[in-house]
Amino acid sequence: MRIPMIVGNWKMNKTADSVESFVNGIRGNLPNAMQLETAICAPALFLEQMVDQARDMPLEVGAENCYFEDNGPFTGETSPYALSKAGVDFVILGHSERRKIFRETDEMINLKVQAVFRNHMRPIICCDETMGQRESNDAVHWVVAQVIEALKGVDEEQARTAIIAYEPSWAIGVGTPASPDQIEEGCYLIRQTVADVYDDEIADEVRVLYGGSVKPANINTIMQKQDVDGVLVGNASLQPESFLELISNDP
Ligand code: 13P
Repeated sequence: MRIPMIVGNWKMNKTADSVESFVNGIRGNLPNAMQLETAICAPALFLEQMVDQARDMPLEVGAENCYFEDNGPFTGETSPYALSKAGVDFVILGHSERRKIFRETDEMINLKVQAVFRNHMRPIICCDETMGQRESNDAVHWVVAQVIEALKGVDEEQARTAIIAYEPSWAIGVGTPASPDQIEEGCYLIRQTVADVYDDEIADEVRVLYGGSVKPANINTIMQKQDVDGVLVGNASLQPESFLELISNDP
């Protein structure tokens, strides 16, 4: 049985003060983690604060990115080893904003996936799809390739704990998500690719999320789809009220 997950991705938002008021705003209102896992992925600057503030809460904490070396002369980068030592549970990798704006390649993302596993955390691997690829019928190939490349060198025990998100960049931050059928299609494709790379048993354990304009008003329909185990939420995860609404809307 795959436990459903709701993960917030704060991107480059918030200050220490607003992080504190967010955590206080959701304190005492989170579900049991055996029924619904909740996590917030925050800018690196706030992670220690969040781990500390959420210590007595069923809230997991994730980073939004990291480097693929554990330490060394990499000015400005965040060490996966340091993240792990700080008590971080997850790291989002390969978000479309990182692929596009920061020119991250499949090869870099794969090295980061390996670094996250090496440091006993779990990656949330994002697979992008552009509208151009969808319109030219190239999207399937593109999504499959991103999954295969990201999981290179990842052993079976690691793979079964991976989280993979279908996040078509054409649905991010626009207010309207992909249709429920498009979402199911993307998530099913990811799970089938995991089955092809490993086997059905591992594919059945891997959690597949959808991301792109998820809100309290549409989360129910999305979460009901068979291959959708949860959601990765940007804007609607920024305020404690709407984060709690997302959680309470979960079927
Ligand atoms: P929005 O929910 O703001 O569309 O962002 C989605 C996203 O990029 C999550 O990683």
